[in-house]
Amino acid sequence: MRSPIPAYLEEVLNDTVDGGEVASYIPELARANPDRLSAALCMADGTIYGAGEVETRFSIQSISKPFVYALALQENGVQAVMERIGVEPSGETFNSASLDPKTQRPDNPMVNIGAIATHALVMPDGTCAERSEAVRRGLSAFAGRQLQIDQAVYSSEISTAFRNHSLAYLVRSVDGFEQDPREIVEGYTRQCSLLVDVRDLAVMAMTLANSGVNPVTKERVVHADVAQQVLSVLTTCGMYDATGDWMTQVGIPAKSGVGGGVIGALPGQVGAAVFSPRLDDVGNSVRGVQAFERFSKDMGMHLLKAP
Ligand code: GLN
Repeated sequence: MRSPIPAYLEEVLNDTVDGGEVASYIPELARANPDRLSAALCMADGTIYGAGEVETRFSIQSISKPFVYALALQENGVQAVMERIGVEPSGETFNSASLDPKTQRPDNPMVNIGAIATHALVMPDGTCAERSEAVRRGLSAFAGRQLQIDQAVYSSEISTAFRNHSLAYLVRSVDGFEQDPREIVEGYTRQCSLLVDVRDLAVMAMTLANSGVNPVTKERVVHADVAQQVLSVLTTCGMYDATGDWMTQVGIPAKSGVGGGVIGALPGQVGAAVFSPRLDDVGNSVRGVQAFERFSKDMGMHLLKAP
């Protein structure tokens, strides 16, 4: 019997109403076709369902942050990473220049300043190229296929990455990392330029939801306690300033990116992803948020819903 899930996903996508604008501060993203739309679910047994333009690839952007955080935790241990980067919501925009006044740490690894410091913790003694390759390989293990960088997006973002450079210099000034800030921004920008489609993202989300084991390749990518730490941070910080709204309306650990992707990871059950490039004021995909609201209601996905 054919599964009803693809038709259901199609219906949810068609019911979403677009609004907002594509990100324009990265020139290459401003050129993206704003009408692209796709969704995918990956179940715990590795079955993947998709709907819409599932072949369309786009840059992962900030959705890379939880996975690089996972790599940094795996390599350095939770304690050592916590000494450098906090786990509190910042209450500020994703690119704000803020450090915790008491500890001088970035508030969390999901805002840019924290993600830049996190990138520096992957192969901290390696070269910029080695670190970028370790990140590419690590995220590929989460996806179960070899991911590649979109050079056009990388060149476009790095040529206008003035703000991220200032954030890197700010963290460097308080000994947040030891490397050259320009190299860290270069690597971080490559990390954000990795090309994915919604099925990749659904598998990556399910790997976090599956205690760190990729449900398709069966490879253990990170320890179970690392996956749990990442999901915890996504619960409080994954959707930027709208994380409170998201947790009440949708109720699952999630992450968005300015490329228009959104992922959600429901522990033990499902990894979900939606792609639609137009963003709301805080930088979350407008149709992506609506689709997840439907998934949550229709499938009873809210973490805090009583059984
Ligand atoms: N590469 C983007 C940046 O650093 C990622 C931001 C995002 O997706 N919110 O600005």
